[in-house]
Amino acid sequence: VKTIGILTSGGDAPGMNAAIRAVVRTALANGLEVKGIRRGFTGLLEEDIIDLNANSVSDIIQRGGTILYTARCPEFVTKEGQDKGAEVCRKHGIDGLVVIGGDGSFQGAKQLAARGINTVGLPGTIDLDIACTDYTIGFDTAVNTAMESIDKVRDTSTSHERCSIIEVMGRNAGYIALWCGIANGAEDVLTTERYDHDEQRIISNIIEKRKIGKKHHIIVNAEGIGDSYGMAKRIEAATGMETRATIIGHIQRGGSPTCKDRVYASAMGAKAVDILCRGGSNRVVAYKHGEFVDFDINEALAMKKDLDEYLFQMSKKLSR
Ligand code: ATP
Repeated sequence: VKTIGILTSGGDAPGMNAAIRAVVRTALANGLEVKGIRRGFTGLLEEDIIDLNANSVSDIIQRGGTILYTARCPEFVTKEGQDKGAEVCRKHGIDGLVVIGGDGSFQGAKQLAARGINTVGLPGTIDLDIACTDYTIGFDTAVNTAMESIDKVRDTSTSHERCSIIEVMGRNAGYIALWCGIANGAEDVLTTERYDHDEQRIISNIIEKRKIGKKHHIIVNAEGIGDSYGMAKRIEAATGMETRATIIGHIQRGGSPTCKDRVYASAMGAKAVDILCRGGSNRVVAYKHGEFVDFDINEALAMKKDLDEYLFQMSKKLSR
């Protein structure tokens, strides 16, 4: 490869900038040119492409968000969009492309690889819901932000002897909820993967814990469960315990990345360039069993993952 393009796509995640910086600096060190494609596949189709040099990525490793902006691009799901994307890459001399995003973005990368553009995907999502990898860029920062917010809610919840429902991000993935449930010592964790919608069981749990002298009751809800405010009203009515719902929301997407997110994102960015320099294409970088590895995109997309059952059962036992 001679020129590497880089884009961020789908939801943003803290640490994406560290990955961009690593891609740019590793590519430059290998004598390659680097182009930044802004606003994901949308920017590719609109040729929103800028030259990147070592200075372009200075002072960004500590910043959340993505300096390249991100977007969702329905046009790129079509064959015409994908053909045009490959054509734009060729027009700008981009023969290697790093795509930072989730499974959807990897689908787009795969289509470009099929059209002769060497592509490598990096897992970037706060939700940790990419099957091929035990780590995704942004999860560590997001889960720490959520944990700190829940600590704060817990203080006031205890003072007022309230029940608190705290909704964390993760549409169809309960990783942030489960990790916070453990880290914050929540009494209940509700995830889309495991929740049976038995609200009566939660109500009975609150009443029982009250009897044994618990001063508060923390329920961590994954975003996909929804209706946290409605749940608070119903729980208050059934238990007589004052109940409030807090939706932490987009705070979890932003902020300065943790050390882990900076280091792992840097390693993944550098590895993506190494793969391209070795002639690799249609690959995804992953972190598996304590090592940075890479998989064929098709293989990665076919993998499945679920919440760690051991962690889930443990969180229940520890909350007694
Ligand atoms: P997140 O985890 O934040 O949702 P994601 O990468 O999975 O990240 P999506 O919105 O699913 O987010 O996908 C991002 C973009 O990737 C889409 O807007 C679209 O441009 C492209 N994309 C998604 N699915 C496909 C597909 N099947 N073929 C080609 N491109 C796709």
